Amino acid sequence: MGTVVDAANKEANRSVLTNKKVTVVFVLGGPGSGKGTQCANVVEHFGYTHLSAGDLLRAEIKSGSENGTMIQNMIKDGKIVPSEVTIKLLQRAIEENGNDKFLIDGFPRNEENRAAFELVTGIEPEFVLFFDCSEEEMERRLLSRNQGREDDNIETIRKRFKVYMESSLPVIEYYNSKGKVRKIDATKPAVEVFGAVKALFTPLNSVPTIILSHVSA
Ligand code: UDP
Ligand code: MG
Repeated sequence: MGTVVDAANKEANRSVLTNKKVTVVFVLGGPGSGKGTQCANVVEHFGYTHLSAGDLLRAEIKSGSENGTMIQNMIKDGKIVPSEVTIKLLQRAIEENGNDKFLIDGFPRNEENRAAFELVTGIEPEFVLFFDCSEEEMERRLLSRNQGREDDNIETIRKRFKVYMESSLPVIEYYNSKGKVRKIDATKPAVEVFGAVKALFTPLNSVPTIILSHVSA
């Protein structure tokens, strides 16, 4: 019997567990491409809630959970944490939040992440915001950002780039084939990048009527 309900939930982007209707935008791009910075801007201007998968995993380490050591070792090595761990954290964060609009930053990172999230939650992204940035610029940013992260050292950074190219880019290609990717040139300064991001989130109904009447005339 569950299958009909599940199908209906999926159709309406309702989380299978909560039956809450949510809008989700996946924010993807290489390490240091500016996902966190731009998500903060979108939160401020458009009322979304920012869920960074990496931040949720780091909070899980700090909380002293039984998975903490495993997660810590994987992050230090630039590897992708098992889907079920990350998905549980994301799902809990969505359920506990009163908002219905979420930016999911840094997830899904591989095809398995993507398929499992869709299967477990029934949620499909509204669109995928993709920050396209050169490796040279990403490396420069990661090495100068000083956030005290154990994975912002040149050895781990190289591993993260490799995982990104091999496992994460195929996810972006998958959504591109479905027409869901909105690509942004993220090598530019943050203010300019936000100009492009803003245009994607500005709803059509907030375009001044004069412009709309001009177009339809
Ligand atoms: N990570 C993961 N699954 C996720 C998100 C993050 O396993 O869905 C791990 C992975 O080891 C990654 C690290 O957390 O290298 C840091 O991710 P974050 O998104 O915070 O860093 P970014 O790549 O944006 O600098
Ligand atoms: Mg980040």
